[in-house]
Amino acid sequence: MTAGVTALSEFALIARFFSRPSGERQGVGDDCALIDVGAQTLAITTDMLLEGVHFLSGADPEALGHKALAVNLSDLAAAGARPRCFLLDLALPQADEAWLEAFSRGMYALAEEHACALVGGDTTRAPRINGARGPVAISITAIGAVDREHYRGRSGAAAGDDIWVSGRFGEAALALAIRRGQLDVPAPYREACLQRMDRPTPRVALGLALVGLATSAIDVSDGLLGDLGHILERSGVSAELWWQDVPRSEVFLQLDVALQQKFVLAGGDDYELIFTARPADRDAIRALAVGGVGLTRIGRIGSGQGLRLLDGDGSIIEATLQSFDHFASGT
Ligand code: ADP
Ligand code: MG
Repeated sequence: MTAGVTALSEFALIARFFSRPSGERQGVGDDCALIDVGAQTLAITTDMLLEGVHFLSGADPEALGHKALAVNLSDLAAAGARPRCFLLDLALPQADEAWLEAFSRGMYALAEEHACALVGGDTTRAPRINGARGPVAISITAIGAVDREHYRGRSGAAAGDDIWVSGRFGEAALALAIRRGQLDVPAPYREACLQRMDRPTPRVALGLALVGLATSAIDVSDGLLGDLGHILERSGVSAELWWQDVPRSEVFLQLDVALQQKFVLAGGDDYELIFTARPADRDAIRALAVGGVGLTRIGRIGSGQGLRLLDGDGSIIEATLQSFDHFASGT
């Protein structure tokens, strides 16, 4: 181990070096920062896609353009923000016209769908290092507007709240395993999984519809358990989660339970929303069928600390599942 290099986790690293109080309405620790500007409150978020970490070399550039913006819009969705505009930073090993054409097409298609304008950015060449081609790095900063009175972050969950999720989980992580040649599934399922990985749908309309209903929310980028863990930590509450109720594709029925749990609970890259709400609002939430996205109640918030994963018969599942952490050993 190099001197001075310790086993700090991604979140310990951020907490230790990059979490000084900012004086802003909401700083480090939520899906978006919140900045009051006159009568408006802006939600700001940034996310990077790095070749070799977030996508495999040779990935379809049109899908990358879509995904680079989608993961940022997903953070705006979690905060209940209406997308407004974004900035694009690119580091590229070379100016490949066909790549750029496809990338910009994918990006603009999603941007137009959400009336979210590209308003600036930065472009630089990724240098060769030790003779090797530099990686493609794509970073987008997205800006949206939130309802100041009804803002929800990760910290509003209270004992007695229901835990809900949108959509279903695990297919994007399964797609990564398929692409790496670690396993395979029948063709129609394979295609559906690859789509989930390459072209996630940010739940922007749902995020807006939940303003005033959800008491807290987060989007799932690193895995269901880990991202729910961020809500629990910031809200100072515990949770029980009902494994049998966690929505997943029937493709998972072919896999043994341990593998299912790995993909569905800790896989990541789902870009669905987890949110909490009061039981009195169940009917209002069920009525929300926004864009055909299913909403499922998968657990309950309690007092105290910790996350208990329960099986259909109420027994505790001892899961040692790790969400994605950029600095965890072995990643
Ligand atoms: P998300 O998955 O929602 O994009 P992350 O897990 O990447 O969020 O980050 C967790 C929190 O830490 C966020 O509030 C993010 O803004 C903040 N954060 C991440 N990296 C840094 C950094 N280098 N400096 C300051 N804040 C950071
Ligand atoms: Mg997020």
